[in-house]
Amino acid sequence: MSGERFRVLDADYRPTWAEVDTAAFSRNIDAIVRRLPESARLVAVLKANAYGHGAVELARVCDADRVAMIAVALLEEALQLRRAGITLPIIVFGPVDARAIVAAVENDITLGVPGPEELTAACEVAQSQDVHVHLKLDSGMGRMGVTESELPDVVQKIHATPRLHVDGVYTHFASADDDPEFTQEQIERFDRMRKAIDAPLQHFANSAATLRGLVRPGDYARVGIALYDGVMRWRTEIARLKTLPNGHAIGYGTTFHTARESRIATLPVGYADGFNRLQSNNGTVLVRGQRAPIVGRVSMDLVTIDVTDVPSAAPGDEVVLLGDGITADEIAARIDTISYEVFCSISARVPRVYR
Ligand SMILES: *Cc1c(COP(=O)(O)O)cnc(C)c1O
Repeated sequence: MSGERFRVLDADYRPTWAEVDTAAFSRNIDAIVRRLPESARLVAVLKANAYGHGAVELARVCDADRVAMIAVALLEEALQLRRAGITLPIIVFGPVDARAIVAAVENDITLGVPGPEELTAACEVAQSQDVHVHLKLDSGMGRMGVTESELPDVVQKIHATPRLHVDGVYTHFASADDDPEFTQEQIERFDRMRKAIDAPLQHFANSAATLRGLVRPGDYARVGIALYDGVMRWRTEIARLKTLPNGHAIGYGTTFHTARESRIATLPVGYADGFNRLQSNNGTVLVRGQRAPIVGRVSMDLVTIDVTDVPSAAPGDEVVLLGDGITADEIAARIDTISYEVFCSISARVPRVYR
């Protein structure tokens, strides 16, 4: 079979895509950097494909003047950035296994060692070469990180491994957005624990803590969600437009019936694209700048909306699903989740277009 034939398959025909505004992302970086105290530095969190926005493209916006480090969750995510030619320091939060540690070291990737298991594996690799890590301390979240009772053994292991370099210590907040008291407790425990380790860098703030001014001079701040504010605009076009009589059913399960003669538009997007099915009969999209309600069930590949009140709506019209005033927070509130999940759920089937 010739390559020609497959080239056609690769081409982009669908009118559904997500526009990623790299200039807006860059402005968000500036806004965060401006809020940081003296000599504090930004770690741009680009895990999960930059919260669905495209890690490689946004990593290219991160320059060494403004961004000290890029953070990702998986080694694969870090390697993808290295393969794309990204040279900034990268930290992998992990966890990763012994094989992955070797690959990380080979590719100049810092390990965000989340506990004694990974530390042991890193120390083994550090018998024969230099290994750079940031050590995570559990200051109260109970998930990743070394606990206070594990700390003495961990310190001993570090001291016994001269080629293991603990460049930083860090922790993560459970409720930086809504529980200042618990956050303060976490900071106090972190400060107590980190005295046992001699590391030049420290960091604990996520977006919420950074926006609350908790970053201290000289700290790193690990900011994810705040960098993505207003960066994505997800759009499609009206594929079918029909007039249906009063009392007509719409979609699977006939969960919606028209209550008047209605103009129903079908959109070529569905839950396989990350348009959450919980938006069935729940929420609005924008047509010609006007809100139009989602009616009936969200299908795998299709969504139906009621444009009776947008009389000028026509086939081929642009429909905005996210952006232009429809925020990820708004969608998240409708379907009982958080903006992070709304972004991350937009599937690989939706092309990302950069400008
Ligand atoms: C995802 C993540 C962050 C970023 O959190 P935001 O709330 O998106 O700013 C920071 N630190 C760690 C360890 C994370 O996993």
